[in-house]
Amino acid sequence: MQGLMMQQPLLVASLLMHAERHHGEQEIVSRRVEGDIHRYRYRDLAQRARRLANGLAALGIAPGERVATLAWNGYRHMELYFAVSGSGAVLHTLNPRLHIDQVSYIIEHAEDRVVFFDLSFLPLIESLMKRVKSPKCFVAMTDRAHMPKALGHADALLCYEDLIDRHDDAFDWPMLDENDASSLCYTSGTTGNPKGVLYSHRSTVLHTYAAALPDSLNCSARDVILPVVPMFHVNAWGLPYIACMVGAKLVFPGPALDGKSLYELIEAEQVTLSAGVPTVWQGLLSHVAERGGTFSSMRRTVIGGAACPTAMTSKFQECYQVEVLHAWGMTELSPVGTVCSFKGHQSALSGEHRYAVQAKQGRSVFGIDMKIVGPDGAEVPWDGHATGDLLVRGPWVARQYFGTDDPPPLQDGWFPTGDVAKIDADGFMQITDRSKDVIKSGGEWISSADIENVASRHPEVTMAACIAARHPKWDERPLLLIVTRPGSTLTGSELLAFLDGKIAKWWRPDAVVLVESIPLGATGKVLKHRLREQYANYYVTALTERSGSSAASITQHE
Ligand code: ADP
Repeated sequence: MQGLMMQQPLLVASLLMHAERHHGEQEIVSRRVEGDIHRYRYRDLAQRARRLANGLAALGIAPGERVATLAWNGYRHMELYFAVSGSGAVLHTLNPRLHIDQVSYIIEHAEDRVVFFDLSFLPLIESLMKRVKSPKCFVAMTDRAHMPKALGHADALLCYEDLIDRHDDAFDWPMLDENDASSLCYTSGTTGNPKGVLYSHRSTVLHTYAAALPDSLNCSARDVILPVVPMFHVNAWGLPYIACMVGAKLVFPGPALDGKSLYELIEAEQVTLSAGVPTVWQGLLSHVAERGGTFSSMRRTVIGGAACPTAMTSKFQECYQVEVLHAWGMTELSPVGTVCSFKGHQSALSGEHRYAVQAKQGRSVFGIDMKIVGPDGAEVPWDGHATGDLLVRGPWVARQYFGTDDPPPLQDGWFPTGDVAKIDADGFMQITDRSKDVIKSGGEWISSADIENVASRHPEVTMAACIAARHPKWDERPLLLIVTRPGSTLTGSELLAFLDGKIAKWWRPDAVVLVESIPLGATGKVLKHRLREQYANYYVTALTERSGSSAASITQHE
């Protein structure tokens, strides 16, 4: 027997309609590429999104066609989020930090019809215009006064504000099928070509509900949300949609992601909740430490995309009374999978015990089912020790990549995340490695994530990356690369001594290499494959060069 409830599809446009009707007065503040601060309200957003939807129709964009953006976090990008998806087309957010070869590949693969871009990407657009065939036009996200003067293919260049001005705001958001595609995001692809993840209206709205919950990102109408995580990377972790759903004030940082600019914006707009990858917060924390400031309004920050080092969690919480919400997700998961928020019996934990929980990536939000499996595919127990490949399933998990004939990646209906993890009896998951980054020493796995976490707790260390280096006896041994504070005199052996007692003896890296910098990818993650290319033979070479007895000094496996 069927239920007798209304059949209302879950649509992206309904989030905007809700925000306009119930939170029309709420503010959206953006630092613009043009250099100034722009302010308006949700009702202005909704009105301009409808004008833009008419503009897209005038450009001949048909339902299902892809409309790309190369843009920072700002109100015009937000208008595109709703105008494009709301009118039935697919919003394709491009990552401008990728190499131009990859950006061109992605545009052609997605068959983008139009590319909207912020002025800071003009040089990239000029090169792209010569390379890509599928877009019929490029739209500069600015007004007439700031329009670039001469571009090779001037007839293909349009002005965003012209497009809005030329159309009125009478537009009815179409009643789409909730399973229609709404947006598209390519994974940064550390190996091989990037792969497209095609979200639906339904998956987006369900993800929005779940991600807003108190034990998830904990967002409400009383919040002032600063998404530092880019809108081109997995929809800024869903925050633009969440803000509409709950009616929070939104603050967009534009291109200025340095510590000083972020701090000024946080204080000026009284931000309560921010979200970003660890590398961004490093800059903010250094700035605030140098300047001797405090956070007068910020109470929570979501940190994810890469493991949040305990040193960062404790700095935020102890020095600034900003609670850290450690979260794990993936492009293929829209992205939120787990969030580390305490259970009732843990709320009284303090010191090391509290940080030990917060170093975990957290518990599954309702909608995401997860399990860890061994090499034979059998489930591994949730005892906080046993590790296995992490598999997930749920209504906002990708089942297949866009535009490929490859067989779907699913294993018996579960998506293999490529992460290796352990799960404790409370259901808290902790990543120990990417499956392609694991260190296998003498047949046993060593967690590079754990070693990095402990090394980053040393006050002189600003960044740590641990990789597997080949070893003639043990197959692989951990090699630790670190970046130290300017002026630091920390030596490798001092750091190794610091690790003693904090990690298992046989996990102790056989060597520490001090480096100037560690390569980061387009989404702020350490490019371990690049480090491996450079350092994979570190021990083999060292052992050959040193020969015989002195080899013992770098092999400390026990
Ligand atoms: P890509 O795989 O293309 O870099 P994603 O941004 O989708 O793009 O990355 C997802 C991966 O990032 C996860 O599978 C995991 O390895 C890593 N990751 C995300 N959040 C965390 C976290 N909190 N701790 C450790 N790793 C994380």
